[in-house]
Amino acid sequence: KLVGNAHPTKGLVMSTIEVKVPNIGDFDAVEIIEVLVAPGDDVQVETSLITVESDKASMEIPSPAAGKVKSVVVKVGDKIAEGALILTLESSVVENKVETKAASKTDLKTGAIESTERVVAAKSVPPSEKTVAASFSGTADMHADLVVLGSGPGGYTAAFRAADLGKKVLLIEKEPVLGGVCLNVGCIPSKALLHVAEVMEEAHEFSALGVAYASPKVDTDKLRDHKNKVVGKLTTGLKGLAKQRKVEVLHGYGRFTSPHTIEVETDGKKQTVQFEHCIIAAGSSVMKLPFVPWEDPRVWDSTDALELHQIPKRMLIVGGGIIGLEMATVYHALGAKITVVELSSGLIPGADRDLIRPFEKILKGRYENIFLNTKVSEIKPTTKGVVCKFEAPADDKNTPKEDTFDAVLVAIGRTPNGKLIDADKAGVAVDERGFIAVDKQQRTNVNHIFAIGDVVGQPMLAHKATHEAKVAAEVIAGQKRYFDARTIPSVAYTSPEVAWCGQTEDQLKAAGTAYEKGVFPWAASGRALSVGAEAGMTKVLFDRETHRLLGCGILGKNAGELIAEATLAVEMGADVNDIALTIHPHPTLSETINFATEVAEGSCTDIFAPKKH
Ligand code: FAD
Repeated sequence: KLVGNAHPTKGLVMSTIEVKVPNIGDFDAVEIIEVLVAPGDDVQVETSLITVESDKASMEIPSPAAGKVKSVVVKVGDKIAEGALILTLESSVVENKVETKAASKTDLKTGAIESTERVVAAKSVPPSEKTVAASFSGTADMHADLVVLGSGPGGYTAAFRAADLGKKVLLIEKEPVLGGVCLNVGCIPSKALLHVAEVMEEAHEFSALGVAYASPKVDTDKLRDHKNKVVGKLTTGLKGLAKQRKVEVLHGYGRFTSPHTIEVETDGKKQTVQFEHCIIAAGSSVMKLPFVPWEDPRVWDSTDALELHQIPKRMLIVGGGIIGLEMATVYHALGAKITVVELSSGLIPGADRDLIRPFEKILKGRYENIFLNTKVSEIKPTTKGVVCKFEAPADDKNTPKEDTFDAVLVAIGRTPNGKLIDADKAGVAVDERGFIAVDKQQRTNVNHIFAIGDVVGQPMLAHKATHEAKVAAEVIAGQKRYFDARTIPSVAYTSPEVAWCGQTEDQLKAAGTAYEKGVFPWAASGRALSVGAEAGMTKVLFDRETHRLLGCGILGKNAGELIAEATLAVEMGADVNDIALTIHPHPTLSETINFATEVAEGSCTDIFAPKKH
C-alpha cells in the first residue's frame, strides 16, 4: 500500500510498501524457519525475505519490490498464511522520465546526415530505484519482472526476447493456445489455404499449356485438417519455446487493477499478478457492423471463413481489402462464385492504382462481380439465401439494388482491443477507437507500461508487431533501442500477389516529393513468361536528386517474397544504381526489380525504354 509522499522537484516518490505473504498454495499456516532480512537492509526485487516450511517443502518468499526494510513484523517460529504482513519496505520511486537526445541518421532525400529526435529511455536507473507499484497492496498471487498481456506475434516475441535478456516473464493469454490472431485465425491458416488455392489455380491453367487434370474433388474436412495441423505445429512449438525459456504462461482474461497489477480470471478464479513492467499486446478483433445478423450461420467474419464449414455456390465478400480478397482467392479456387463489394473507388485502397488496375482486370475476368463505390446497406437472412442490399452511385447502372447469396463474408477491418483491458485503472490512455498511443520505444503514457502490435495502430501486421515487441523488450532490459524502421512492407497474398514498401506514388505526390520511377512489365521477363505470370509489373520509385530508393510496388507471383529486397534497399538508403549494378540471378522474377531500376536509369536492354534527356 502506498503511504508515502512525493518530492516533485526530484521526481522521486518515497513510499512504504506492506509486503504480505503471497499465494503459497493450499496452506493455512506455515512456519517461518528463517528471517533473512532486518530493518535497515537494502533489498532488490526477488531478494529472499523469509523461508517458510510446511510438512512437504520449504520455500523462500521474495520481495516484490526494491527498497530499504523499515520494519520486520514476523519472527522465526511464527505460523503465517496468505495475506499476513511480513514487513514494510521504504521504497524510492524514480519517475522514469524519457529523455530525448539527438541522434544522427542519413537523410533519404539529401544523403546528408541529419539530426533526428531520438528517444532514449532513462535506463540508467539503478536497480534499487526501480519503479515500484504505486498502488500495490502486497497481496499479489504472482509476481514477474515483466508481464506480457496477449500472446500473439507481438506478445510471444516480447516475452521470449525479454526472457532471453534475463527477465522473469509471465505471459497472459485468454485463449487456450498461444499465438494470437496471426497463428490461429489470421496469417498462418489463411496462407495454408491460399497455397492450396494457388496450386489448384495453376493446375487449372495448365490445360491451356497442354496438361489437363480432372476437375478437383475438394474434401473440406481434410483440407481443414491440413490447415489445423499447420497451426497446431506452430502453436505447440510456441508452448515448447516458452517452456525452454522459463516464460510462465497464465491462461485467463487479464484486466488492469492498478498501475502494477493485473487481475487474471481463469474459469471464474481470479489471481492478481504484480509486475514491474508490462507490455500490452492485446491485439485486435474483427470489426462488427451493427446491422449485420452475425447469428446466422451463413454470415461470416474472417475466422468463420477460415473454418471452411461449406463452400457456398455464390459468396459475397463485403470489403475489398487484403483479408477479404485473400478469402475470395481461397473460396474461388474451391469453387465458389465470388462477388466483391467495396466502399471506395478501388480494391486494396492502400496500394498505388497502377498496380491495382491490372489486378482488378484479372479479378473481373475471374469473379462474378466487383462492385466499387458501393455500400452494403442491409444483410437479411431468408430461406432462399442471404439477401443483401447495395447502395451504388446514381450513375452506376451495373450494380443491382439487391442480390441473394449462399454466404456473406464481412471483412471490413479490425478494431483494437485497447478498451477491453481496464487500461484506465493503470492510468494508460486509450483513444476513442481503442488504440493506445506509444512513443518510439513503445512506451505508453505510463512509464513502465509498454504497448505493441495491433493495439497501438496501423498497419495491423504481424511483422510490425514482432519488430515493436523486440524494441519494447530490449528497452525494458536496459538496451538503447527505439523503433526506427523506414518502412513496413505490405503484402496481399492474392493471386496474383500485390506487395509494396516504402512510400507509394500516391504518398509521394501528396507530399510534393520530387521523385522519378522505373516500371518493368513482367511480359518482358523470361521467367515470368515461363511461369505464366506475364501480367505482373515491378515499379521502383526514387528521389529525383539523390536517386535513393523511396518505394517499390510489385504485382505478380511471389511479390510478397520479392518485396524483401526492395524493403532492404529502402531501409539501407540504397540508390537506384545499387540495385541496377547488383547482379541478379537469371532467369528469376527478382530480375524485375533489377530491370525496373535499369529502366529508371536508362540502361535496360530487355525492353525499349530509352531515358528521356
Ligand atoms: P493478436 O495477434 O491479435 O494477439 C493478441 C492476443 O491477445 C490474442 O491471443 C488475444 O486472445 C489476447 N488477448 C487480448 N486481450 C486479452 C486479455 N484481456 N487477456 C488475455 N489475453 C488477451 N498480418 C500479416 O502480417 N500478414 C498476414 O498475412 C496476415 N494475414 C491475416 C489474415 C487474417 C484473416 C487476419 C484476421 C489477420 C491477418 N494479419 C496478417 C494480421 C495479423 O494477424 C495481426 O496484425 C497480428 O496478429 C497482430 O499481432 P498482435 O500480437 O498485436 O495481436
